[in-house]
Amino acid sequence: NGRVTVSDLNKVYRSGEEETKAIDDLSFEVEGGEFLTVVGPSGCGKSTLLYLIAGFLDPTSGTIAVDGDPISGPGTDRGVVFQDYALFPWRTVEDNVMYGLEENGADEDERRETAQRFIDMMGLSGHEEKYPKELSGGMKQRVALARTLAYDPKILLMDEPFGALDQPLRESLQDHLLDIWRDIGKTVVFITHDVEEAVYLSERVMVMTNQPGTRKSVYDIDLDRT
Ligand code: ADP
Ligand code: ADP
Repeated sequence: NGRVTVSDLNKVYRSGEEETKAIDDLSFEVEGGEFLTVVGPSGCGKSTLLYLIAGFLDPTSGTIAVDGDPISGPGTDRGVVFQDYALFPWRTVEDNVMYGLEENGADEDERRETAQRFIDMMGLSGHEEKYPKELSGGMKQRVALARTLAYDPKILLMDEPFGALDQPLRESLQDHLLDIWRDIGKTVVFITHDVEEAVYLSERVMVMTNQPGTRKSVYDIDLDRT
């Protein structure tokens, strides 16, 4: 159901003599269907953490498990949304959204139908044949979200997805994301350096800090909204 268990996680980047401890002995769990926001200043290790969970990076030590099974590399149980959208410029909106469905055995009509459902969900109807360069930033991020949701990952990993958008657009996409999350109940790990965004989006916030030296500190906070 999308439970993420992070155990004794460490990540050290080495380049020549230099060592950077990006993640220091981090353990936490995200329940299936939970929305966790990770907030902290630049350089505290947020992206490293997200890419470790995505399987794009290997930990120096420690493990990450999804529903009890340790991950080894990327998998379709986890979908990533990037700040810079990472759309395929040579593909239309529809073909971008269909991208993730290409290896699941469905025939073209089924894939088109699934893609259309998520295009509608993200308010992109009528834009199917457009190319990314014809879209605004907010629309590009809607396409990226539709592309990721279409292949139905259990866990949505979002790296400052609204960081490049202006405030009104951010707010409308935040609300749209929350609607979708309530509706389809996926686990979300959302990264931001914006404290207001973190507190707005989720009831559980993990704060990462840059302490002097190499030690990273993490605070797990449950917001009591009652
Ligand atoms: P954040 O996303 O919170 O800004 P990052 O995870 O990008 O933090 O970076 C955490 C620390 O690891 C920073 O000190 C950064 O400079 C360092 N770092 C990140 N990526 C690399 C890399 N590929 N090689 C060396 N150091 C890195
Ligand atoms: P083609 O259809 O020409 O083989 P693809 O559209 O399959 O090209 O993908 C091109 C490359 O982009 C692939 O190597 C793939 O691993 C990479 N890629 C896939 N998904 C993403 C993504 N979400 N963001 C960035 N790059 C990706």
